Amino acid sequence: MKNLTRRGLMLILSSPSGAGKTTIVNALLNSETHLKTSISVTTREKRPNEVDGRDYYFVTPEEFQRRIDAEEFFEYAEVFENHYGTPKQFVMDTLSSGHDVVFDIDWQGTQQISQAARDDLVTIFILPPSLAELETRLRTRNQDSAEIISHRMREASAELSHWPEYNYVVTNHDINDSVATVRSILHAERHRRKRQVGLADFVNHMRHPV
Ligand code: 5GP
Repeated sequence: MKNLTRRGLMLILSSPSGAGKTTIVNALLNSETHLKTSISVTTREKRPNEVDGRDYYFVTPEEFQRRIDAEEFFEYAEVFENHYGTPKQFVMDTLSSGHDVVFDIDWQGTQQISQAARDDLVTIFILPPSLAELETRLRTRNQDSAEIISHRMREASAELSHWPEYNYVVTNHDINDSVATVRSILHAERHRRKRQVGLADFVNHMRHPV
């Protein structure tokens, strides 16, 4: 009997900074086998709690430009005056090894990937419960200066306007509920008929055994 295999999918989570998507991605990675995260390259300064190669690959603007010229990015964009890009090779290798890939990228990156690979894409927009709550979360995570936080709050409204471009919208009232919802979306999307390679042969064999 033919083995049933599945096409890997790309799961994109976007939200304004501080809405909780990094926590959701980390929780998913802990509970899901066959899921890997794409680690982006950035020119942003490393925060004290971040590790190079785990949270991001931190590079100079010159190195970032070199990678653009060498076509090493799947997508790239400027966010908050810094550059961010997704390494292409990792995504290709991971999908072809039968794993899914989860991305924490903004709406610009989502649009670029949608144009290249719409069929293999599942997109989720994470909304904060309110702007006041978003600001509280940015302040209590204590990672950015007051100036950067007010910049991010000004940008949040523009980010929020992109929610209609996503397949799913999850409002993050409670982090455990949001993780469970995103996990359900991933599990359901894995069962889409088009993602189950060899299904016709599998069912035909069941109906007409030799
Ligand atoms: P942060 O500086 O807070 O880590 O991220 C700022 C924003 O950049 C977030 O909205 C995050 O999703 C987005 N971002 C991170 N990596 C990438 C990337 O590789 N490509 C794009 N387009 N956006 C990214």
